[in-house]
Amino acid sequence: MPIRLYDSLSRETKTLQAYHPDGVFRFYNCGPTVYAPAHLGNLRTFIINDVLCRLLELEFGADKVKYVRNLTDVDNKTIKRAREEGRPLAAVTKQWTDKFHADCDALHCLRPHIEPTATGHICEQIDMINMLMKNGNAYRVADGSIYFKVSSFNNYGKLSRLKERELQFGSALAGKPQTNSTDGKEDSTDFVLWKTEKPEDTGNAWESPWGRGRPGWHIECSAMSKKHLGDTIDLHTGGEDLLFPHHENEIAQSECCNHQLFARHWYHSKHLLVDGAKMSKSLGNLYTLDDLIAKGFSPMAVRYALLAAHPRKQLNFTIDSLHAAESALKILRNFRANLSASSSVRGAFAPAIHALEDDLNTPGAFGALFTTINCHTSKPEAKSFDHALFALGLDLRAPVSVKAEAPAEVTSLAQKRWAAKMASDFSAADAFRKELTAAGWAMLDSKDGYKLEPARK
Ligand code: AMP
Ligand code: ZN
Repeated sequence: MPIRLYDSLSRETKTLQAYHPDGVFRFYNCGPTVYAPAHLGNLRTFIINDVLCRLLELEFGADKVKYVRNLTDVDNKTIKRAREEGRPLAAVTKQWTDKFHADCDALHCLRPHIEPTATGHICEQIDMINMLMKNGNAYRVADGSIYFKVSSFNNYGKLSRLKERELQFGSALAGKPQTNSTDGKEDSTDFVLWKTEKPEDTGNAWESPWGRGRPGWHIECSAMSKKHLGDTIDLHTGGEDLLFPHHENEIAQSECCNHQLFARHWYHSKHLLVDGAKMSKSLGNLYTLDDLIAKGFSPMAVRYALLAAHPRKQLNFTIDSLHAAESALKILRNFRANLSASSSVRGAFAPAIHALEDDLNTPGAFGALFTTINCHTSKPEAKSFDHALFALGLDLRAPVSVKAEAPAEVTSLAQKRWAAKMASDFSAADAFRKELTAAGWAMLDSKDGYKLEPARK
């Protein structure tokens, strides 16, 4: 069956197709900002995209899908973190990129085919901004920064339907320039393409035709997508918060630069709530994978629980859902152990795949799996079962309990100690080390940073 998926642009469910003559399906997913561990919401989005990638590989063939997911390794958040910790930006982003990879591996997510970084594509971003300046879509303000001129792109708002909504209120998009900004923007909806270097950037800046600075966030995805997938891609995805302004701005930049349609299909998954509330540090409900491993749950149960609700519906995560996921995995493991390759009912698990092909209906796929398990009198063949499990990315051989890495409180203590040490506040640094020792962790310092290890008894 072809894969049908909701398209946020047309607001219709449409068949996914590889439009390029080489038959390769071009897929871009906005990746993480690497300055802290990914939280459960981020992980849900990446797991959903992993199922999508697996399904695409089954449909088009593994060598006919090109999956690009970027790493945002320079922006306000990454620079702030490096500044607070007194460490080089590259050391901070490498630490959190490695952690992100470790989490994704534990959750059995396939690596994207290409994982480009913003700092590795400064020239491509400058080239694109240059083109936008030449085309009259961008302008320079007094401090040297460059902004995209939203009114120069007629289709601005086509994804978020902003124009329709804003027209009712007679805003800038309806033709009335509105600005009260101090940054010199011509209109409040204009967004930054290049930021002139500021002292708080602590030297994280690159040479450009407009002086030293760094790219704005939105331009990185337009530039990396163009470089690795070409001017028009088949599918662009991300969490629902990215639809506006990030994806709207990507469309504006790419279409004004390339004069081609940017993406044929857009998909946005819904956010995750924890115990019915938005995740936040102050509510104490912002879980990382390590937090859940420390509570004794397996990464596979986390994956299962994060896929249990429809990706286009909000998922209300609870610790109880992890207990249910562990029980479901136990049933699946027992069932698999008793299957023989020569059993008779072929393709019995196809309904699970069909559910995924029908707008990525993950709860429907789980339902179909268990219906087959419960209803078949003769044993279905192992191949069909494994096929369905591959699509969902469930690895039944994965360890049931995993050695915990440093929990979030410990990494936070370590960061505070390092910042104190860098600020030569040695008494505060010693106090944090004592707290780390009490928590059972040792911090090993080196020239560029530190490593955390369980303390020797
Ligand atoms: P970030 O690292 O903040 O750039 O986010 C990485 C991805 O996680 C993006 O696709 C976001 O849309 C997504 N995301 C952020 N918060 C949540 C959430 N609470 N639930 C689901 N996805 C989220
Ligand atoms: Zn992006």
